Amino acid sequence: MIDRRRFVASLAGALGLAFWDDQTLDAITGNVNSNSKPSELKITDLRVATITHAPMRDPILRIDTNQGIYGLGEVRDGASPTYALMLKSRILGENPCNVDKIFRKIRQFGGESRQAGGVCGIEMALWDLAGKAYNVPVYQMLGGKFRDKIRCYADTTESDDPHIYGDRLKKRKEQGFTWLKMDLGIDLMKDKPGMITRPEGVLITQGADTPHMFTGIELTPKGIETMANFVSVVRDYVGYDVPLSCDHFGHIGVNSCIRLGKALEQYNVAWLEDMVPWQYPALLKEIKQAVNIPLCTGEDIYLKEGFVNLAEQHAVDILHPDLATSGGILETKKIGDAIEQYGIPMAMHFAGSPVSCMANVHCAAATNNFLVLENHSVDVPWWSDLVEGVEKPIVNHGFIAVPDAPGLGVTLNEAEVKKHLDGGYFDPTDEWNKERSHDRLWSMTVRGTPPRT
Ligand SMILES: [Mg+2]
Repeated sequence: MIDRRRFVASLAGALGLAFWDDQTLDAITGNVNSNSKPSELKITDLRVATITHAPMRDPILRIDTNQGIYGLGEVRDGASPTYALMLKSRILGENPCNVDKIFRKIRQFGGESRQAGGVCGIEMALWDLAGKAYNVPVYQMLGGKFRDKIRCYADTTESDDPHIYGDRLKKRKEQGFTWLKMDLGIDLMKDKPGMITRPEGVLITQGADTPHMFTGIELTPKGIETMANFVSVVRDYVGYDVPLSCDHFGHIGVNSCIRLGKALEQYNVAWLEDMVPWQYPALLKEIKQAVNIPLCTGEDIYLKEGFVNLAEQHAVDILHPDLATSGGILETKKIGDAIEQYGIPMAMHFAGSPVSCMANVHCAAATNNFLVLENHSVDVPWWSDLVEGVEKPIVNHGFIAVPDAPGLGVTLNEAEVKKHLDGGYFDPTDEWNKERSHDRLWSMTVRGTPPRT
C-alpha cells in the first residue's frame, strides 16, 4: 500500500495536483486491483492446521505466496494432511493461477477416497488464490452461476427408535431443509434374532474391510419387513412430499439389496446410496434395473473417468462426488457436465469445514445438473464461526448463499480455529520442501532426458 500511495502521490505531484489529501489517495489506491501481479505470483509455502470435532477431523491447508496473498484449501475429512504435504515440493515456485497445469502435475498422487485428499485440497487453495489475485469469486471463473443459493441436506444423528429418528428428521424439515437423508442399516437389527442370516463368526460390521458381496450376509423376510417398517414410521413423521434418501445399509448381498429396495418402493425413497461398492457397475445396474428407486453412488471415486464409466453404462441414476476426493472444483464441474449428457444429476457428498464447503458451493453454483449438497455440521454450534466473510449461519434454512467475495469468499477466524485444533496452527513445514521422486507417467524414449521438475 505504501508503494502505491507513493506512486500515486508522485503522479499527483507531477500533474500539479498537490491538493490531493490522504483520504483521496486512499480512495484512489483502494480502487486499484493490486492484490497482486498475477503473472508474477509464486507459491512460497504450504502449511496445515487441523480442526477436530467439526464433527470430523479436517486438515485446513494454507498456500502462501511471494505477494502476501494466500489460498485456503482442505484435505478430505478423516484423511492425513501428509497427502498434501508430500506435494509441497511439487508446487513451490509455481504460479497458483495456473490451476489446471498444477492439477495435472500433481494428479498422479491422488487415488480413491482419502488418497485424493492432498490433490483436491491443494486444487481448492489454488482457486482461492487465483480468485484473490484477479479479484473474482471462484464460480465466476468456472463460467458463472446457475443459482444463487445451494440446496442442502443435513446428516442427522441416527437412532434405533424410528420415532426418535423420525422426530429428528421432522425437525430438520422445520429448520428449512427441503431434502432429507436417513441411515437405514442392518445394525438396527443386531440384537434381534431372525432378521439377518450370516456365517458364524461374521460380524455385521464385517463390511468395513470386506466388500458387500463377500460377507455372506443376507436379510431374512422378517429383516426386510423390519427395515421397511422403520422407513414407514419415519415417513409418518416427515410426510411424503419431501425427498428422503437412504444410506449406510450395511454390507449385504445383491439379492438382499434388491429385495429390500422393492420393499422400500412404497415409501418413495429419493435415492438408495452405495448399496454395493462403486467398483462393481454391473451389480449396481442389476439393482437399478430391479428396483424402482433411484440408485446413487460416487463419494469415493477419484477423477472424471470413473463417473463417466458408470454414466455410460447407466449403472446408477444419481452420481454423488465428494469434491475433496473427485478431483477438486474444476474436475467436479467437469464430472457434472459429463454425466449431464447421460441424463444423470449430480448430488454432492461433503463432510468438512466451511473452507471445503465453500469450494463445494462455488462448484454447485456453476454446475447445471447439481441436485443437493450434503452437510454434516448443522448441529456443531461453532462451525460457521470458523470463517469470516460469508453470511451466517452458513447453512441457513436449508440453503447456503453463494458468496461474491474473491476466491472461495472466506477467511479464517483465527481465534475460533485455534479453539478446535489438533496440533499446531500453520506451523512451518520446511521438512517437505525437498520431497522428491522420479515423477514420470511414461517411460522416456531418449536416454539422458532430465526428469520433470
Ligand atoms: Mg454415503
